[in-house]
Amino acid sequence: MKIVLASGNRGKLAELGGLLAGSGIELLPQGALGIADAVEDGRSFVENALIKARHAARLSGLPALADDSGLIVDALGGAPGLVSAHYAGVHGDAAGNIARLLAELRGVPVERRTARFYCCLVLLRHADDPQPLIAEGLWPGRILDAPRGTGGFGYDPVFFDPETGLGAGEMPPERKNPISHRGRALAVLKARLGEWIARA
Ligand code: IMP
Repeated sequence: MKIVLASGNRGKLAELGGLLAGSGIELLPQGALGIADAVEDGRSFVENALIKARHAARLSGLPALADDSGLIVDALGGAPGLVSAHYAGVHGDAAGNIARLLAELRGVPVERRTARFYCCLVLLRHADDPQPLIAEGLWPGRILDAPRGTGGFGYDPVFFDPETGLGAGEMPPERKNPISHRGRALAVLKARLGEWIARA
């Protein structure tokens, strides 16, 4: 089954592609079909994921999967949240985003540096599908004082997972994928996939 991935983010494509390996689903990045990014002007992660999935499904004529995700930091009132991808001003500037995050948290003690990654996945059969499959995942952790590791993407170098005692940037994909917000959301989505397909 071919599904268009409503994202141009290489990190997401690599993780979702890896997580779906062997499932019979082939993910085609929207860029490979000449589809540009949708305007993400929703007021929540769910709205943005729906906007992206509908855009990709409409332009490709294929079922579409979208991921809207971000980092929620308690000491910053939930920021960067919806604007995680462009917290420093430029979309996808991971180094700039990390620099701003560390500056905002300067002097905040370790016990108040709690945070979580959140992921919302939306799967649509077609652009006007009235019953999208929506799955969410959370990954609780905290923000480090300085980057660690070179793995992953986005904020991974400054996100610490207390369960494993590792930074997300120190984890190889096979370590990050099963416990990450995206991995957890995808597990929920996969568990509901059979029922969702049968309802078509
Ligand atoms: P969007 O969902 O494309 O609007 O952007 C999500 C943004 O959240 C990414 O650009 C990253 O900055 C951040 N993000 C989401 N998931 C992860 C992750 O697994 N690791 C690190 N950063 C992430």
